[in-house]
Amino acid sequence: MLTPEYKMKAHDNVVKKLNIYPSRGLILDRKGRVMVYNDASYDILVQWNITKNLDTLKLCEVLNTEIAYVRKKLDEIKRTTPNKPTPFIKLLDAQTFARFQEHLYEFPSFSFQTRTVRRFPDKDGAAVFGYLSEVTKDNIAKSGGYYELGDYMGTTGIEQYYDSLLRGEKGYSFQVVDVKNTYKGKYRDGKDDKAPIAGWDMISGLDAKLQAFGEKLMQGKVGGIVAIEPATGEILAYVSSPGYDPNLLTGRYRRHNFNVLFNNPYKPLLNRPIQAMYPPGSTFKAAAALLTLQENIHGEKWAWFCPGGYRVGNHVVKCHGVHAIPDVQSALQHSCNSYFCKVYNDFIMDSTFATPAIGYQKWWDMMSEFGYGKKLGVDLFGEKRGNLPTVKYYNKVFGEGKWRAATIISNSIGQGEVLATPLQIANAMAIIANRGYYFTPKICRAFIKGNQKRYPVKQKYATNIDSVYYRFVVDGLEKVVQQGTARGAMIPDITFCGKTGTAQNPHGKDHSIFSGFAPKDNPKIAIAVFVENAGFGATYAAPIASLMVEMYLHDSIAKKRIPMQERMFKAHIISDDLGTGIPKTLQELRQDSLAKEKAKADRTKYIEDSIKAAKEKKPSPVKNTKIENLDIKKEDYQE
Ligand SMILES: [Zn+2]
Repeated sequence: MLTPEYKMKAHDNVVKKLNIYPSRGLILDRKGRVMVYNDASYDILVQWNITKNLDTLKLCEVLNTEIAYVRKKLDEIKRTTPNKPTPFIKLLDAQTFARFQEHLYEFPSFSFQTRTVRRFPDKDGAAVFGYLSEVTKDNIAKSGGYYELGDYMGTTGIEQYYDSLLRGEKGYSFQVVDVKNTYKGKYRDGKDDKAPIAGWDMISGLDAKLQAFGEKLMQGKVGGIVAIEPATGEILAYVSSPGYDPNLLTGRYRRHNFNVLFNNPYKPLLNRPIQAMYPPGSTFKAAAALLTLQENIHGEKWAWFCPGGYRVGNHVVKCHGVHAIPDVQSALQHSCNSYFCKVYNDFIMDSTFATPAIGYQKWWDMMSEFGYGKKLGVDLFGEKRGNLPTVKYYNKVFGEGKWRAATIISNSIGQGEVLATPLQIANAMAIIANRGYYFTPKICRAFIKGNQKRYPVKQKYATNIDSVYYRFVVDGLEKVVQQGTARGAMIPDITFCGKTGTAQNPHGKDHSIFSGFAPKDNPKIAIAVFVENAGFGATYAAPIASLMVEMYLHDSIAKKRIPMQERMFKAHIISDDLGTGIPKTLQELRQDSLAKEKAKADRTKYIEDSIKAAKEKKPSPVKNTKIENLDIKKEDYQE
């Protein structure tokens, strides 16, 4: 942005202060692949009070814009800032700019400034990287004098969280120009100039190949994927679906595309891995099993006969069938609802606790060690805490002393009021993979600048559960995939441990959930996959999770599993056409509406002719126009 110029001694020349924008830090994946870089872009500025004999048509042609826009913008500048160079068109691409530059001499009141825009070579990671937008007055006030009107800053995702490191430091240069706006040289030989300082580059924990694979698998589906490296807490893949090409929110058509995305009913701008909250369903049972064993409510070999459900007063929590459950592994393997209702009830109502509220508080404390009901501290803003209802909450709802385990039995199987984000579910699996601890999940591994390095703040959290109990539960999760509810997710040569889930959805078809980790020993990846309105967990979520794990550990998919991969790619529950891109020009819109009018007239005429022919008992006229829907009533085509 150009600031007010200073008059020099020589009357004809002026000095302009020109900001020089630093190059924003790159974002790389864990193997060094560039996932976000910068591309040149240009703002075209105009100073209205020195604009004379403007050839508007020529200007429209070289800038590839419409007359209406030029008139409107010039009028706006005339009213607001007529005396200084003001942005006229922002973030022009390099090709259009090159054409404009050839004609710059014909538009002496026009000038330009160089900018950069973000580019995403793989076209993915929109939810994790986020976008930049023009600063607001509030941003400027909070930036301690760094930002000025017209600047851009990170406003979502990683771009927002690490804005102060990624942005670098602006420089400036004082330049002498004459009245015709011709550059005459540097003021005082550039003695007062300051070079910009580039931002820090970020090495993320993401795996670019896995990220791209995950986005492809989730195409046409609503939900999310989070994959974590258990040993470090580094996030390997982070998918929010429906996603969008992040390049849509950079450059000249940013605003148009933003509005299209914002109005899409499937909310592509929602950051599902941290903002969508689902009932965790059966994936909650792994943690529930650990609590039971640790508190010695029932031992590993405690057997239970499931009569097909668990009765609470008049209400029955249904199970999948009538079956004998010889031990905790089997309970996990068969995802037996009544087993988990029973152990939850016995935990809270245990006689060592004076009241059910004290028992529930103990259950709550232990569950929250698995990261449920609290923000995990990922390096993204807007993380939701999910919901692990408190004693205080139930006292308010039912009255103190007026509730017990049976009143809130749905919690035992991850239903009812319990809600978790995909990130929390993946993190809970990382804890089980690690047999009892986790590191704060982070996108960032390190920032680098020359020889300097900076690391994000990470903390290690441990559960108060003996490692021996983890062994029992891990064996149970191994059986789920080998011979239980997720057999379709078996991966050749990899011991994949996990849990399917089906979260009941009162608004429609149930959500499909899977969470797990692999390999069983020394796990390298923990994962959670959510597919909304997709039915059983085994339908979509489990195959998608298993393909992700195989791709990460083997770097390819086994030949015999390719048909499953293709099936997942092709399974489109919703349309993935978001309708974004370059907005249509007025001329195109007019042509569209003319074509539509003509089609409507043709259709009307054909129907009228048919009716007439039928009345005269003649055959219908030959169809020579494209008629989409003949079975319509008159009022249907009177739009
Ligand atoms: Zn059962």
